Amino acid sequence: MASGTPVGQSGNTFTYRSTAPVASYATTLAVGRYRKLAATGPRGIPVTTWYRAKDAQYLPMFKRSPAFLTWLEERFGPYPFDSTGLVMVESNSAMETQQMVTLGEVQPARGDQMFDLTTLHEYAHHWFGDAVTLTDWRDMWLNEGWALYVQKLYEKDRYGLSDAELVKSSRQRDGELRKEYGPPSKPDRAEFGATNVYTCGAAMLRQLHQALIDAWLDSPTTPPETGPLPR
Ligand SMILES: [Zn+2]
Repeated sequence: MASGTPVGQSGNTFTYRSTAPVASYATTLAVGRYRKLAATGPRGIPVTTWYRAKDAQYLPMFKRSPAFLTWLEERFGPYPFDSTGLVMVESNSAMETQQMVTLGEVQPARGDQMFDLTTLHEYAHHWFGDAVTLTDWRDMWLNEGWALYVQKLYEKDRYGLSDAELVKSSRQRDGELRKEYGPPSKPDRAEFGATNVYTCGAAMLRQLHQALIDAWLDSPTTPPETGPLPR
């Protein structure tokens, strides 16, 4: 299984093709005995989950991909590619590989909430990190700040995280992480992808989002040109 859109099979050769540009770090390849769960996402996008026999217990979770994509489309516009899905692998991590999220088996084992937030985070990267990507790793906070902020918006919407809790924890962690790791746009080579890259970027986006809402509330008769009141 590989990222991209499947275009055929000849014997043991499977061919995938990307019609959209893809950053080298956002490609994936998985080899094994896979089963296929086919679904349809918003606007008819094919959503395919590739899982191993031992992952069958997580099928109810895998079936939530179209709902995640619908939630994301309602906020950020159309999903930027022509197919998507998940591939399960032996790993602890999760990665926003373009058109097919690579998901370590540890993720669904952590339960519904962790699965939802992690998978939603990786799908969110398709708007923030995949369709628009970085030039070099100093800009990684733009990828991860957005993906974490989107994840927090989902947590507020579906899991009852309050805005006060989000602000309190963001402010506290922002200060702690800047002391420990420095500013998120100047990452330490020895600490690739440290938490400051995630949390400090998300904290900044929450403040910008609030400023947009405040500006709208100050003059509600002139709604933003791009759509309804930011959520
Ligand atoms: Zn991420």
